[in-house]
Amino acid sequence: MEEKVKADLKKIFGFSQFRGNQKLIVDNLLNQRNTFVIMPTGAGKSLCYQLPAVVSEGTAIVISPLIALMKNQVDQLNAVGVNAHFLNSTLTKAEATKVKSEVLKKITKLLYVAPESLTKEENIAFLKSAHLSFVAIDEAHCISEWGHDFRPEYRRIKSIIAQIAPNLPIIALTATATPKVQQDIQRNLQMEEADLFKSSFNRTNLFYEVRPKLKNESKKALIKFIKGHKGKSGIIYCLSRKKVEEIAELLKVNQINAAPYHAGLDSSVRIKTQDDFLNEELDVIVATIAFGMGIDKPDVRYVIHYDVPKSLEGYYQETGRAGRDGLEGHCLMFFRQEDIVKLDKFNKDKAVTERENAKLLLQEMAAFAETGVCRRKFILNYFGEILNEDCGFCDNCKRERETFEGMDYLLIALEAVQKTNERFSMDHLVKVILGEMDEYIESYKHDTLDVFGKGKGESGKHWTSVIRQAMITALLEKDIENYGILRLTQKGLDFMDSPYSVDLFKDHDFEKESEAERQD
Ligand code: ADP
Ligand code: ZN
Repeated sequence: MEEKVKADLKKIFGFSQFRGNQKLIVDNLLNQRNTFVIMPTGAGKSLCYQLPAVVSEGTAIVISPLIALMKNQVDQLNAVGVNAHFLNSTLTKAEATKVKSEVLKKITKLLYVAPESLTKEENIAFLKSAHLSFVAIDEAHCISEWGHDFRPEYRRIKSIIAQIAPNLPIIALTATATPKVQQDIQRNLQMEEADLFKSSFNRTNLFYEVRPKLKNESKKALIKFIKGHKGKSGIIYCLSRKKVEEIAELLKVNQINAAPYHAGLDSSVRIKTQDDFLNEELDVIVATIAFGMGIDKPDVRYVIHYDVPKSLEGYYQETGRAGRDGLEGHCLMFFRQEDIVKLDKFNKDKAVTERENAKLLLQEMAAFAETGVCRRKFILNYFGEILNEDCGFCDNCKRERETFEGMDYLLIALEAVQKTNERFSMDHLVKVILGEMDEYIESYKHDTLDVFGKGKGESGKHWTSVIRQAMITALLEKDIENYGILRLTQKGLDFMDSPYSVDLFKDHDFEKESEAERQD
């Protein structure tokens, strides 16, 4: 088997070596173990189930949320001689019958299924009679309400697999798993015992930069940036179709070879735009987030967020499309607080928990934009990784930063966490430190604590920033059980015992920076 795996890696996929954890993952799955894979976009997740499917007997079921993505993968597999099919709502009855007969004849190696199709009675019955090798759940973060891409049908996958074949090994894969989302996925799939393979999320070749967004200056800056990357491929993300059209038009009149891409365009237009981009006939795509899923252009040299994304996960995904070949990738975002407020308003019709969740994601996004901390440290911390040294390769690392002695501030922040018994989130802690009353403070009697009001000389923004930096330096951590709740780490406890000097970074004041720029 070992030999066949190695041979097929080369023969079918054309790779002479495995990358990162791929070999361990493939072996693990072939040993019939439940496997949980967390790997950043572009790292090579597909191979982790495609190769085992090819070398195994029977058919692997691949559950994937996007029909376009499915078709793409199936086409690629067919092109290298692998029998793969998909089963979804786009097939005619005759086509579906043909697909099923090939599966039953055991010649199909991979069957891609949309979650909606998986839940259909007739398909369950059919899969029960098929000879299956394992189940792969791609984009597994769709299971979690705490992620940015929740799909309710994903929550039913486990019970359906249990009906089809309860003992089939499962491999779940995702590129976006904060510790909370990770736990949610494992619980929902009842695979707490699965072997976890988590790769680092550090994309060392990406340069992160955030600039204030100003009415006219930012458009000029955008054009200047793109012209500075003449002939290179880039993606500009905007939130609305209208904005996409507007920016694409602006670029075109400035002699930039750009085209818009969004779900409102005819599919033939979208396909042509995508092809032109892949074939280098088009330099710049201005797009809503509809663009990019499953796009694998290795030499995208920059990704610009003209509007702020809805979450840091989204930001990471989208910027992740730059520099997939390991070479330069510049990630530039234009930010203003107003855009966050606007996005928050869009959520007003959602159910309460969903709205609250979306708001937390937005807050994290804004905190990232405004932070003075190394941006890579900030992002990695969000995904549960601690980077000890500043990266030296982001705008914050590159500029003169204003720092201040943080020891006393950190002590107050940690004391607030400790004295409230490690059971509260940022907003509450900040209120305690500032000495602000509300019903919760009253009912928990937190106004009687020594630390209550200890920091009222500083602003709430200041304390939020101090607490965040305590998280990034691993003095505090998020409780995974209870979203948003902060706890002390061992390092934090040690710090309280014998405190030491720590430089903290001032946040950007983009409102002020924009003021200054306007006066220039
Ligand atoms: P993901 O799903 O993690 O975003 P993909 O599975 O689409 O990533 O793979 C990203 C790219 O890496 C693809 O172009 C793929 O061909 C390439 N790739 C995957 N595994 C290897 C490998 N072992 N050696 C070289 N290239 C690889
Ligand atoms: Zn940095």
